[in-house]
Amino acid sequence: MENSSVRTGARVPEYFGEDVFNEKAMQRRLPKHAYRELKKAIEEGQELTPETADLIAHEMKEWAMEHGATHFTHWFQPLTGVTAEKHDAFISAPMQDGGVLMSLSGKELIKGEPDASSFPSGGLRATFEARGYTIWDCTSPAFIRRDEGGATLCIPTAFCSYTGEALDQKTPLLRSMEAIDREATRLVRLFGNTHSKHVVPYVGAEQEYFIIDREKYLQRMDLIFTGRTLFGAMPPKGQELDDHYFGTLRPRIAAYMSEVNTELWRLGVPAKTQHNEAAPAQHELAPIYEKVNVAVDHNQLIMQTLKRVATRHGLRCLLHEKPFDGVNGSGKHDNWSLMTDDGINLLDPGVTPHENIQFLLILTCILKAVDDYAELLRESAADVGNDLRLGGNEAPPAIISVFLGEQLLDVLTQLISTGRAAKTRDGGKLLTGVSTLSDISKDGTDRNRTSPFAFTGNKFEFRMVGSRDSIASPNVVLNTIVADAFHEASEILESAGAECFDETVHDLIKRYAAEHIRIVFNGNGYSESWVTEAKRRGLPNIPSMVDAIPALTDEKSVRLFRDYGVFSEKELISRMEVKYETYSKDMNIEARTMLEMTNKLFLPAMIRGAGSLASSVSAIEAAGADASVSRKLLVRLNDLIKEASDAREKLLEATLSAEKNPAGRTQALLFRDKVVPAMKALRKPVDEAEMIVDKQLWPVPSYADLMFEV
Ligand code: ADP
Ligand code: MG
Repeated sequence: MENSSVRTGARVPEYFGEDVFNEKAMQRRLPKHAYRELKKAIEEGQELTPETADLIAHEMKEWAMEHGATHFTHWFQPLTGVTAEKHDAFISAPMQDGGVLMSLSGKELIKGEPDASSFPSGGLRATFEARGYTIWDCTSPAFIRRDEGGATLCIPTAFCSYTGEALDQKTPLLRSMEAIDREATRLVRLFGNTHSKHVVPYVGAEQEYFIIDREKYLQRMDLIFTGRTLFGAMPPKGQELDDHYFGTLRPRIAAYMSEVNTELWRLGVPAKTQHNEAAPAQHELAPIYEKVNVAVDHNQLIMQTLKRVATRHGLRCLLHEKPFDGVNGSGKHDNWSLMTDDGINLLDPGVTPHENIQFLLILTCILKAVDDYAELLRESAADVGNDLRLGGNEAPPAIISVFLGEQLLDVLTQLISTGRAAKTRDGGKLLTGVSTLSDISKDGTDRNRTSPFAFTGNKFEFRMVGSRDSIASPNVVLNTIVADAFHEASEILESAGAECFDETVHDLIKRYAAEHIRIVFNGNGYSESWVTEAKRRGLPNIPSMVDAIPALTDEKSVRLFRDYGVFSEKELISRMEVKYETYSKDMNIEARTMLEMTNKLFLPAMIRGAGSLASSVSAIEAAGADASVSRKLLVRLNDLIKEASDAREKLLEATLSAEKNPAGRTQALLFRDKVVPAMKALRKPVDEAEMIVDKQLWPVPSYADLMFEV
């Protein structure tokens, strides 16, 4: 029996990507002309002829069967935040002799028709016209997924309605990639680049997650139904000591990570970095950056693999943004850059940034984009769990700002004040003070972990994204707003003409820098003073998802997305509706779970605890001793029982009245403003009671049990 977790390093290159129908597999299996045609389809969006599609489908099926697959599925990403699939066996109509053929036709490869009526569509597709199509995305390779049910060929697809509206994450992403490709290529042409054919966004998404013991997980209804703890007193030890961050991996976690890596590598996911994170039981996995559409798919595979492998190890992976109150939550850092097809990173400042005017123009265009569309960027990171994290002095604040570092800020400031940047501040040497370590050239920028959007040398790191969320929408927004800024710059430069090019570029950089420097903030984003300062600068501060959602459909966004063919107004409205509904549904589940746990678990435990205290008081007094301490605890516990019971009734009332409303903004507001405070009010007495009641009587594992006993 081969144990996948003990495959050794030397063998990694042998099996990396073995379950992917990648270039290597295609080249080996496809006739030359079919391979060429497919490459053209991938690189230039050309359509495949039906014959070639049949050929590719056949070879893909043969390859998949050799890898043990019996079924195929169109793998897509509806607006549920997770992936969806419907499996079909390769078998086709039984033959007369009773045997069966295994087949996959070009048509089946290219187009599927799942019953779409039960996926969120925000009114785009009334149930009577439930038709939805999945369409092969040949730019992301097909792969084999293995689980207890066997092996399945997964074909990445986009998911659209009968009338072509996007019902998924992938479709707008591909559209936004075309927009940025067009506008960025146009811009670099003006700077004399004639060799690059395309510009593609590259993304590396660092994924944070918690690992807990599965047996304990199963004892908590809140974790099962909502992915986070809705109750729980803080343990005596939290993360104050910072001893978990980058600490040695515990053996059980190390074994788990090793298997996660092996599984991901087989799937061609370049999992690279792993370490403990700040909170106890929190970890991170970062892959090497890839083209954004592949990075989006791979991030989904990473999340699924983290979960699946955990189960096998008797563990449970929590991807929720805030599994434990009072403990650091989890995010996803979306590292984004723009790369030409011939390998030039447009966000690389070069050695002397002041000379690199193309870089400075691109940089100031990005500042302009982020400043002009801060609300939209904020919205793209809005999901239910993230409300508990953003602005919590551990995650980026809910205010969008850009960290540039001293060196670049200095260049921009010189430009604004004198009209030219004469010098680049030298990063200088970083002396380590250890003679055996050679001096390393200090980076031009220091790190700033508190910024939501930080320039980190040759890429931007968008740190607001929630750990559970798809990275598709932040990248859709980034690609589109930057395409828009590039568009404006190109228009101006083109109309100025070649003679005035240098001067016009210079003026543009200066103007953009001056107009948008307010979005640049190098200081501590966690500080209270930043909130005040940001307000003074007129920057939006949007702490809640419900208040972020309207940015999707305001006039500016509608125009933007329409101009670049990324979303129609109808699609934006549908997304807005889906988001309000998701918020309300999630809050409703949380509220209902709290009620159930209080009624069935906590109140009974508190009452039992009070009973046992009361017996102690009588016994102590009967023995003629002083029972004042026990009596005091009993009185406090009794008060808490009353408080919890009242809070439970108020929560029920608030929930029932919110539930009565139709889905939409009003309902979401009711959940946020009435239900959420009622949930907090119920949690308080229960958490306090947990500290009083005998541990033997407490019905669920505590925070300490969950976080320190993995
Ligand atoms: P850290 O942020 O912890 O210093 P790195 O900078 O090495 O770590 O990388 C973090 C993530 O950013 C990784 O997923 C990495 O692949 C990705 N990354 C590195 N360079 C780029 C780039 N040019 N474009 C996009 N992502 C990048
Ligand atoms: Mg990072």
